[in-house]
Amino acid sequence: MSSTASARAELIDHLRERGITDERVLHAIAMVPREEFVPTAFKHRAYEDSALPIACGQTISQPYTVAIMTQALQAEPGMRVLEIGTGSGYQAAVLAMLGLKVFTIERHYDLLHAARQTLERIGCNVATHLGDGTVGWSAFAPYDRIVVTAGAPEIPSALLRQLAPDGRLVIPIGGREQQNMQVVVKIGDTNQYDVFDYGEYKFVPLIGRNAWERDDAAPQG
Ligand code: SAM
Repeated sequence: MSSTASARAELIDHLRERGITDERVLHAIAMVPREEFVPTAFKHRAYEDSALPIACGQTISQPYTVAIMTQALQAEPGMRVLEIGTGSGYQAAVLAMLGLKVFTIERHYDLLHAARQTLERIGCNVATHLGDGTVGWSAFAPYDRIVVTAGAPEIPSALLRQLAPDGRLVIPIGGREQQNMQVVVKIGDTNQYDVFDYGEYKFVPLIGRNAWERDDAAPQG
C-alpha cells in the first residue's frame, strides 16, 4: 500500500472510532484525494484529522467535520444538494462522490476558481457559483439538502425557502468564534421544522446579507 493509501485508510479508521457509522459516507471520503484540495505546503498533512489553511484566510474543514455534516444530511443518491462555502471544493467532492447533484456557492473568486480547477482535474461534476450564499441559489431551487460550511448568527430565511418538502439543512449557528451544528428538518410541505443540535464546532464566519457583515474573525474550522 502506498503511504497516501495507508494514511487515507488510517483516517477512515479514525473517523469510525469517532462515531461515523454511515459506510457510504466513509466510502466517499476514502475515494476523494484530499491532498488535491490542500495547498502544496500542507500536502503531507492532508490525511490528518485537522482543518488546514487555504487561500483568502479560509480553511478546508477537518475530515471529521465533513463526515459528520455529510452523515447528518442523510442524503440519497440523485438528490439535489446546495453547499454554501465551496472553499477548497473538498466537501463538494465528497457530496458528488455520494451520487448527489451538487450546487456550491463561494464568495471569494480565487477560491472558487481554484476549486473548479481541482474538481475538474479529479473528474467531479459540480455546479459552482460565485456570490453570497446567504441568499441561496434560486435558479436551481428547491434543494433536497442544504449544507452551510461557515458559521451563521441565525438561519438565513432564504435557505429555508429554497428547501424542498422533507428537506434537511445542516448549518453551524452561534457566535463568530463558536457555533452549534444544527440539523433543520422541514416537515413535509409546511413552514414547520424540527431542529436537532449536534454539538459545538468552530467555523469561519458566514459573511453576507443574511449573516455576519464583515470578515474580521480569525479563521479556524
Ligand atoms: N467546504 C469547504 C471545503 O471543503 O474546503 C470549507 C469551507 S470554509 C470552512 C468556509 C467557506 O465559506 C470559505 O471559503 C468562505 O469564503 C465561505 N463563505 C463565507 N461566507 C460565504 C457566503 N455568504 N457565501 C458563500 N461562501 C461563503
